Amino acid sequence: MKFLVTGGAGFIGSAVCRHLIRNTAHSVVNLDKLTYAANLASLEPISNDPRYSFAKLDIRDREAVGELLRVEEIDVVMHLAAESHVDRSIDGPGEFIGTNVVGTFDLLEAARGYWTKLSGERRAAFRFHHVSTDEVYGDLPLDGGLFTEDTAYAPSSPYSASKAASDHLAMAWHHTYGMPVVLSNCSNNYGPYHFPEKLIPLMILNGLEGKDLPVYGKGENVRDWLYVEDHARALEMIATRGEVGRSYNVGGRNERSNLDVVHDICDALDKLAPRKDGKSRREQITFVADRPGHDLRYAIDATRLETELGWQAQETFATGLEKTVAWFLENEEWWRPLRERYSGKRLGQT
Ligand code: NAD
Repeated sequence: MKFLVTGGAGFIGSAVCRHLIRNTAHSVVNLDKLTYAANLASLEPISNDPRYSFAKLDIRDREAVGELLRVEEIDVVMHLAAESHVDRSIDGPGEFIGTNVVGTFDLLEAARGYWTKLSGERRAAFRFHHVSTDEVYGDLPLDGGLFTEDTAYAPSSPYSASKAASDHLAMAWHHTYGMPVVLSNCSNNYGPYHFPEKLIPLMILNGLEGKDLPVYGKGENVRDWLYVEDHARALEMIATRGEVGRSYNVGGRNERSNLDVVHDICDALDKLAPRKDGKSRREQITFVADRPGHDLRYAIDATRLETELGWQAQETFATGLEKTVAWFLENEEWWRPLRERYSGKRLGQT
């Protein structure tokens, strides 16, 4: 099959492109506008593969996207393009509405125009997979409960509200126009090629450089972490075998408080790249004023994905984190230019 991956130059999109090219026989057209969050260097491992190509386009350019769908004879649209950083959505929500809500509407319309004209097997096989976040569900108390696919939406931030709106649009295009849409909502991702302003890479790189490790509030907020390559495998399964009109939660059952995550990073760094003075990097931790509207806890019940599609996370948080820290230690040429451009501008929490 031929996939159109939107946002394929971002963190998760590039992992999806690498996964599809390395581990499957599918072809990939990567459509990306190349915002600040994009990095074509993340595609270098597959950029010469004849099954991979790149198109610099905005999802809001309906006409050009429709033309690309036709020329490339796309079978699956996997939609990841988005503004994705919660802190940026608090500072400037407009971009989030423009890309995540209006952009998803434009893409759905381009896809509907294309799908309507397909016939026979190609029409039956076509899928539009909208990729979303568990943040649409709002938050959970610290002492229990999990998000299931039946949890009511209650987004807190401009980011999660824009994603919630786009989820509703995607499902409405299925219910109203019969378009074959599948939806997935995933917990926090981490792994190689993660943009250096996000929590885990920021803490790894600040830790390495002897800088402060700034933690919001008391670091009690809990997130459910998933290694990005486990997410990429789940997305391929959902796009190709998921039931149309259904949503799938994706999560690794790896709940950690932010402070635990930072402690784990300090310990992994101390093991793989000890400080010259022999001290623990935990000494670099500082506590800063909390983010407004900071959700307390997210935790995913991924039973549907596990039982219906047979997906299992392959990494625990310990194994995935060690791989991630090792990757950042070995790939300074990837992160150094981004770090110099964006260092210190954000706290990097998710
Ligand atoms: P990212 O910010 O790393 O990448 C987003 C990509 O989208 C960038 O390459 C950017 O250039 C591109 N893009 C932005 N606006 C565009 C436009 N108008 N047209 C074309 N391309 C555009 O994001 P990510 O962390 O890889 O997240 C990808 C998707 O997965 C998002 O939809 C996000 O909501 C969702 N998600 C992310 C996480 C996470 O932990 N990062 C968890 C669950 C779901």
